[in-house]
Amino acid sequence: MQFPIKKITKTDNPISQQKVKVVCRVRPFLPHEFPDDTVGVDGNSIKITNQRNPTEILKYSFNACYGPTTAQTELFNNDVYPLLDHVLKGLNATIFAYGVTGSGKTHTMQGSQEHPGIIPRTLRRLFEIKNTSINRIDIKVSYMEIYKENVYDLLVPRDSITGLAIREDMNRNIFVANLTEKEINSYAEFEKVYSAACKHRSTAATKLNVHSSRSHAILCIYVTCRDDARGTTLFGKINLIDLAGSEDNRRTENGKERLVESAAINKSLFALGQVVEALSQGSSRIPYRDSKMTRILQDSLGGRSLSMIIINISPGQAFYTDTYNTLNFATRTKEIENRPEVNQITDVRHVAEQLVLAKPQKTTRVVP
Ligand code: ADP
Ligand code: MG
Repeated sequence: MQFPIKKITKTDNPISQQKVKVVCRVRPFLPHEFPDDTVGVDGNSIKITNQRNPTEILKYSFNACYGPTTAQTELFNNDVYPLLDHVLKGLNATIFAYGVTGSGKTHTMQGSQEHPGIIPRTLRRLFEIKNTSINRIDIKVSYMEIYKENVYDLLVPRDSITGLAIREDMNRNIFVANLTEKEINSYAEFEKVYSAACKHRSTAATKLNVHSSRSHAILCIYVTCRDDARGTTLFGKINLIDLAGSEDNRRTENGKERLVESAAINKSLFALGQVVEALSQGSSRIPYRDSKMTRILQDSLGGRSLSMIIINISPGQAFYTDTYNTLNFATRTKEIENRPEVNQITDVRHVAEQLVLAKPQKTTRVVP
């Protein structure tokens, strides 16, 4: 059945303007690393010792900072859990994990059996809400990977190396054409679907010589919340993104061919940097179309979504340049402002019933 879209007014909107939230997480030293005190966490700030002038400490402040001992639960409860409430109220939210390879992006988003990350925790929580809510909640997921400017569906086996196309609908929403959206009915079902999808990713990796650190993985969770009493349906969406490693491949990879490949891989991250730069400068032209990833996530950067970026940092002197670049990128990201909007549809039948009941009073006009 076709429902008319209700015009959203400012009062319907729980949050009218919201800066991109920036959270920083420093991982612990790994067994093979030599600990030093180059990077430190001090409240909501990260302090790094300037490599050029060791007497100088550079301090960067963010919405929250987490040190090496922070548990997955803490980050989830503080920063992700509150977002879920907004998603159930019809807002879109995006969480990015940004950082160099080995800095803890996959640990933060996916985690392990013993230390599950944001993805499993989000799904578990959503199913808890679904199973106890008086409203009807439906959950669907899609999972895609962007590698060398191609978009691949991870919920189906990969049968070609040509990726999916990105399109724009009548309401100027960007979507990936023919991307599978799978309805999920329980957390156990999600676990099965997700682990199979992760396998598609790694199988494809061997075939195409893709390394997960060089591709972006985007899990989309579509949450539909139907309130029969009010005759409304709210559509929320969460994008959970494990970005490709942000290291400068020109420094780490030698050889001409590798350099060309790196340029293609890094195109999306370079474009992300340019988009963030343009938005933070208040430019009139934002180069979203310069890469697949920025195009798909257009709405999450300067658009109608709530967004949070988790900056993952590898501690120690060895990563100083990467840490310095990452922190400067994060500082620009802080300046981006989004204007979240609720996605709501009102059932025509319900409006008609209300009109009969309320006669002869005037009612709100529903704009088709
Ligand atoms: P990335 O996805 O950014 O390349 P990973 O998430 O794979 O990095 O992390 C690299 C290594 O560091 C992994 O062995 C991971 O288990 C470990 N690690 C990362 N973050 C943490 C953390 N907060 N606590 C414990 N171990 C971590
Ligand atoms: Mg990873």
